[in-house]
Amino acid sequence: MDYIVFDLEWNQSSDGQEKEIKEIPFEIIEIGAVKLDENFQLKDRFNHLIKPKVYHKMHDFTRKLIHIKMEELENEKYFPEVMEEFLDWCGEDYIFCTWGPLDLTELQRNMQFYQMSPLTDRPIRFYDVQKLFSIGFEDRKTRRALEHAVDVLRIEKDIPFHRAFSDAYYTAKVLSRIEPPVLKNYSFDVFVAPKSKKEEVKIIFDHYMKYITREFDSKEEILANREIMSVKCYICKKNVKRKMRWFSANGKYYYSAGHCDKHGYIKAKVRIRKSENQKVFAIKTLKFISEEEMMALKEKRSKSKR
Ligand SMILES: [Zn+2]
Repeated sequence: MDYIVFDLEWNQSSDGQEKEIKEIPFEIIEIGAVKLDENFQLKDRFNHLIKPKVYHKMHDFTRKLIHIKMEELENEKYFPEVMEEFLDWCGEDYIFCTWGPLDLTELQRNMQFYQMSPLTDRPIRFYDVQKLFSIGFEDRKTRRALEHAVDVLRIEKDIPFHRAFSDAYYTAKVLSRIEPPVLKNYSFDVFVAPKSKKEEVKIIFDHYMKYITREFDSKEEILANREIMSVKCYICKKNVKRKMRWFSANGKYYYSAGHCDKHGYIKAKVRIRKSENQKVFAIKTLKFISEEEMMALKEKRSKSKR
């Protein structure tokens, strides 16, 4: 299996001059990628600018960050053609890797805008190298800039940052330094939410378990679903003694907790998300927590009651 490490640059509406088009808030103007083999050795590179069709004024932010002028894009191909080339270049057996969780979503949103056939009919498993870096080298939670990771790992800075190809190149260098056990921490892009039970995602990580449910018509349906709202020990695979009823801090996240005699306290969290086709689905996590974390959760609940 190859690793396709890619990065995008995109443009957006510049206030007052061009209105935002809801279907494509971020228009991709550059795709840069490197392909690594299973030993993380560089196999190939991909580097293309894209001629925009939607936003013809360069947003200040884009211009300052990536130093691309509109005129430079004049003679490039449009997105669908470059995207086809990119997918051909990716090959058959690969996993996408990006710095942070956004690129894969925006890539699919741009494809959808041009009515290209979707990459997939379900969530895409990928590597968020920004997350892997945090798990492997820092506190698991903080998300850093790419250049910070490059500095920490003493990777040679031989090309400038903030262009699609160079950021893909450095992301690949960081990826190649991630230890194998950390590579168990896959991410899932949910631009396409599961449509049926068999497309649902259930995965057990070292410290928690994640469940991405199929789509439902309403939030109420999710909250009434027994499987989603059960609190189980994912090691024993049994329901546990409930220590706290479900509560919501803001109507988006729901929390509950239980206790397994063998494995201790378990926190359950359900996050309800709108899917691209205006339905809803849930991302549920079950996580073992300490007694202190249990206290903190109780504190959160009493705050939400007030
Ligand atoms: Zn247990």
